[in-house]
Amino acid sequence: MSQCHVCSGDRFREEVTSEIFRIGDRLLLVEDIPVMVCDRCGEEVFDRDTMERVRVLLHGNARPIRTVEVGVFSF
Ligand SMILES: [Zn+2]
Repeated sequence: MSQCHVCSGDRFREEVTSEIFRIGDRLLLVEDIPVMVCDRCGEEVFDRDTMERVRVLLHGNARPIRTVEVGVFSF
């Protein structure tokens, strides 16, 4: 197991998370992404294979499983 690049901790726990990606003017939500979370500082670390799969999902021809409405605020 690698070290946390933020706090040098070496204990991680496995979780799943959701991330929103902006591709041009589209917002794409990917759910249930496996992630390793640093026990000490909470930093999230995605492995290379996971990020590659996300990239393929976002840029491939896969159909989203559902569509959600996104509210937009201007600060
Ligand atoms: Zn850490």
